[in-house]
Amino acid sequence: MRPDILNPLFSEVQSLRGVGPRLNKPLERLKLHRVKDMLYHFPNSFMHRNYRETLDIGDVGQHIIIKITVINMRNGHNYRSPLRIIGEDKNGDTVSLIFFGKNAGWAKKQLPMESHRIISGKLEQYGDELQIIHPDTIFEIKADSNQSQSIADTIASHVPLIEPIYPLSEGITNGRLGVLVSEALAVRPHIEEWIEPSLLKKNNWKSWYESIENMHSEYNEHAHNRLAYDELLANQITMQLVRAEMDNRKCLPISGDDRLTKLLQLPFEMTGAQKRVIAEIEGDLEQSRPMLRLLQGDVGSGKTIVALMALLRCVESGYQGAFLAPTEILARQHFANIQQLVAPLPVNVAILTSRDKGKLREATLMGLADGSIDIIIGTHAIFQEAVTYKNLAMAIIDEQHKFGVSQRLMLTKKGRGVPHLLVMTATPIPRTLALACYGEMDVSQIDELPPGRTAIETVVMPDNRMDDIINGLERHLSAGKQAFWVCPLIEESSSGKAAAEARAEMLQKYFGKKIGIIHGRMKSQDKDKVMESFINKEILLLVATTVIEVGVDVPNASLMIVESADSFGLAQLHQLRGRVGRGSEKSVCLLIRSTILSETARARLSLMRKSNDGFEIAEEDLNLRGAGEMIGTRQSGSSPFQVASDTQVRAWLSTAADDAKLLLQRDGGLSGTRGEAARILLYLFERDAGVATLRSG
Ligand code: ADP
Ligand code: MG
Repeated sequence: MRPDILNPLFSEVQSLRGVGPRLNKPLERLKLHRVKDMLYHFPNSFMHRNYRETLDIGDVGQHIIIKITVINMRNGHNYRSPLRIIGEDKNGDTVSLIFFGKNAGWAKKQLPMESHRIISGKLEQYGDELQIIHPDTIFEIKADSNQSQSIADTIASHVPLIEPIYPLSEGITNGRLGVLVSEALAVRPHIEEWIEPSLLKKNNWKSWYESIENMHSEYNEHAHNRLAYDELLANQITMQLVRAEMDNRKCLPISGDDRLTKLLQLPFEMTGAQKRVIAEIEGDLEQSRPMLRLLQGDVGSGKTIVALMALLRCVESGYQGAFLAPTEILARQHFANIQQLVAPLPVNVAILTSRDKGKLREATLMGLADGSIDIIIGTHAIFQEAVTYKNLAMAIIDEQHKFGVSQRLMLTKKGRGVPHLLVMTATPIPRTLALACYGEMDVSQIDELPPGRTAIETVVMPDNRMDDIINGLERHLSAGKQAFWVCPLIEESSSGKAAAEARAEMLQKYFGKKIGIIHGRMKSQDKDKVMESFINKEILLLVATTVIEVGVDVPNASLMIVESADSFGLAQLHQLRGRVGRGSEKSVCLLIRSTILSETARARLSLMRKSNDGFEIAEEDLNLRGAGEMIGTRQSGSSPFQVASDTQVRAWLSTAADDAKLLLQRDGGLSGTRGEAARILLYLFERDAGVATLRSG
C-alpha cells in the first residue's frame, strides 16, 4: 500500500482547481496525469522581465517592464489593423502597444489618454518603431508613487520578474500551466529525508520539499541534482532488492550432457568470444540460484547461436526453454533459422505469436503444457496468462531494452521456481548506463565479430545532393543488389508513416515496382508479406521506418540509406547500419544529413564515419551530448530516467549504488527511519515491483 503521505501527489490532475474537460487533452499529451507529474514537469527555461526607466533599442527581444504615459490611440477596425496605443517614456520616446481584437471602449478603461501605466511585455522593433504586441500585464500606479523603491514594490506585487517557461502542448498556455504547477506545489507534503545527511550537506542540497519548488522558481543546479539523485537512488535500491530477491529463490539447475549440442552441425567455427560467453552462461545454469545475465554483442556478432546453445543445454536436462523476440518478423526469422539447425536433432521447436490462432494455437499451448514442445520461440504472447509450461527453466529475451523489473517478476510465475534469464542486446549500453539499466545483472560481452566480414563503408551526404544519391541508388539496383531506405520518425504521427509514404511515392517515379514500403502502422501480416518479398528479391528497395531496426537479416542488401540521419540517435544509426554487411558483398551505409548542421550534429555524424565499434560510438555520443546538454532535453534512447540527465547519471549513479547498498545492509531491508523514508522514495518513483519484494518490518 502506498503511504498516505503521498496521496496528494498521486491524485489526478483533474483534482486541481480549474482543470475542466477542455484541458484533458493537452494534459494527456504532456503526460501530466497526476499531481506528481505536474511537480516534475520542469520548465525549459525562465523568462526574465527587466524593469527599465526608459525605452532602449538595445532591449529589443527582451521582456521589459516600463512606466509609460498614454499619448495617442488609433482604433482598430479588424484583424489587419489592430488597436494601437502610443505610450511615451519619461524622456518622450515612444512605444506602440498593439492589441488584436480589442476596441476603443476597452482602451478607454484600461489605457485612457494621459494615464500613467506600467506595462510588461516583449519589446520588438518594426521599422523605426518600438512595439509591444499584447503586453502581458498592464496596471495603474498611484500618482504619489514616483519613488523608485515604491515602484519596484508595486511591480513585484503585480508581475513576477522571473517566469518559468514550460514545455507546452496545443490547448494550454504557459500561464495556465504555471497556475496548475503552483496549485500542485501547494499540496505537496513534507517528507522524511531519504538521502544520507552528510551527502546532503556536502553538496549543498535542500530537502525534497524545497528542491521541488526551486525547480519552478529559478533554475537551480543543486535542486536539479538532488532530484536527479532521488531518481537514481530509487533505481539502485530497486535493482538491489530484486537481485537479493532472485538470489533467495530456487530454480532448476541445468547441467547438460552435450548429447544435443554435439549433434549440432554448424556451418562455421564459433569465435573465441562466443565460446567464452557460452561457458559463462553454462556456469550460471549449473547453479540453483537463477541466472540473471545480460549478453551484449554488436550487431552480427552471433548472439543467436549462443542463445541456441543455451536452449539446447536446457533441453538436455529435460526442461523447456523460451526465446522471446521483440517483433513478429524477428520471431519468425529466429524460428526458421533454429528449426533448420536443429532439424537433425530430437528436439521439438514451436513458434507462438499473437497471430497464431485457433487450432494451431491450441495445439501449441497443449504442447507447452504437456512438455512435448522443448523450445518455444515467439513474441510476448509466449508469456501471456493463458500460457502454461510443464517445466520452463530458462527464458532468453532478444533485443528487448525495455524488459524491466516487473516483466522479470512476471516470468517467475511461469516456471517451477524462477527461470534462468538471459537478456541479449546489440544496443551498446555505455558503462555508466549499464549499471542503471542492468545494475543487478551479470554482464557477458561478445567483443569479436566472426571472421571474413568486410567493414561497412559509411558516407555522409547533404540532402541537397538528392540527384547524386538517386543516381547512385539506380546503379546499385541495376546490378541486382538490394537496398534499404530508412525515413525518420515524425513526432506527430510517431509511426513515420507519412514520411515513408511520401518518400516511397517519390522513389516510385524512378524505380517503379522494385519498391516496397514497411512502417509501424501496418498490420503484422502485411509487414511480413513485404519482408518476404524483400527476402525473395521481388522487391529490391525497401523504404521503411525504424521498424527494420532490429535483427532482420537479408545478405543481398548491401546499401543502407538513412534520411535525416542527424535526427537519429547514434546507437540507432549503428543498429541500422548493421542491417547491411551481412553478405560477402562490400556494403555501404549512406547517411543523408540536413544541409545546415550544428557543431554537435557534425561531430556525431563524423564519428559514425570513423568508427564501426558500437561501444565506442555509445560512449562518445554520450560525451558529445553531455557538452550540449540542457535541462529538459531528451536523454539518449537507452536512458531509463526521466529526471536525471545523462550527465547526472554519470556524475551520481555510482554514489547512489553505494548508498543503496549501505542502506540495505545497515538497515536490513529498509527498517529504521531512513529505511522508512526510502520506502516512500520507492513509491514516489513507482518502483512498486521493488517494494513488493521488500520483507515486511
Ligand atoms: P546478432 O548478434 O546480431 O544477433 P546473428 O546471431 O544474427 O547476430 O548472426 C549474424 C550472422 O552471423 C548469422 O548469419 C550467423 O549465422 C552468422 N554467424 C554467427 N556466428 C558466426 C561465426 N562464428 N562464424 C561465422 N558466421 C557466424
Ligand atoms: Mg540478433
